[in-house]
Amino acid sequence: MAKLGSEMKDDNQASPSSSTSAEHGFDATLWRKFWKAPSLPRVKEVAWRVCVGAVPTRLCLRRRGMDLDPSCPVCGHEEESIDHLFIHCPVARGCWFVSLGVRTDAGTSTFMDFMAAVLRNKDGWCIAEVQRMIYCLWEGRNKVLFELREPGCATVLSRFAAMESPSQLGTNGNQVDWSVVKWSRPAAGMIKINVDASLGGDLLAGFGMVARDEDGEILAAASHYPTVATSATMAEAFCLRWAMELSSQLGFRRVQFETDCLQLFHAWKKGVGRSPLFSLLQDCKTFVQLFDCVEFTFTRRQGNTCADFMARNASTLSNIVWVEEAPRVYVAFYRQIFWLLCRL
Ligand SMILES: [Zn+2]
Repeated sequence: MAKLGSEMKDDNQASPSSSTSAEHGFDATLWRKFWKAPSLPRVKEVAWRVCVGAVPTRLCLRRRGMDLDPSCPVCGHEEESIDHLFIHCPVARGCWFVSLGVRTDAGTSTFMDFMAAVLRNKDGWCIAEVQRMIYCLWEGRNKVLFELREPGCATVLSRFAAMESPSQLGTNGNQVDWSVVKWSRPAAGMIKINVDASLGGDLLAGFGMVARDEDGEILAAASHYPTVATSATMAEAFCLRWAMELSSQLGFRRVQFETDCLQLFHAWKKGVGRSPLFSLLQDCKTFVQLFDCVEFTFTRRQGNTCADFMARNASTLSNIVWVEEAPRVYVAFYRQIFWLLCRL
């Protein structure tokens, strides 16, 4: 391990602000969390090698005397250190943000600081997702270098989504094939409005909605933050009410609202009850008369990725609504993100 530590030190000498594993190495508690995360063994192994500096980045090889170009094979702009490849490279930054809503350019100087913060503050499921992204970034970089693949976020993100995630493993460890579930087009003349809510530990919920027509063209996207909700299902119901009101204001008439919350879907179908959830759904149903046609459908989370993205990033995006008339740069940015998400 001492040898691996020195490799990390070498690699990080690229930047004076970088720190060594001796200063920021994880303590036993953090390593325990690392190894307990429900990741596949090969994913965990690669993530561990990155954490201890035991991956042969080009800068590392150069420092050991190999005569090669130390620049990052993915972006070509900086020297390829671990900090650059996994935190600062534009492709890495894009992948972290789009897949997990993580901004690695905000106050994170080194990979080890980033990883220590993840291990300290996140639960096992989240740590597993981070380990999987590390694996995919390393694999993506190798594909660029050795298979001459085109560099970019799309390859890494589709691999990230296609790989078995812990939530896709059944209780007996068998994989469930969710890969077939994707966003589907609404019937001709209908506008599908995917909705999703994301509830934080502080009981503040963010909402997201994305409206698309039968060609898959995005007509509007919006996020809202915050609304206080006492449960995830209540947050989803508040989100539905918000999306219905907004959709009527946007002039949509024939609409299909789609959720990935099974409890909300069942409650909507059931229609009667005494809980706060049913009162809220009664509110929602008063909006039905504002439309010419309303359907309510359920999809798996994999079919709801764009609304999920808007909801998870609602606290950053704040209360935005964009339609065709929005500033071009803004629309282009979201179009690109949604395009990536829909390809997953
Ligand atoms: Zn780069």
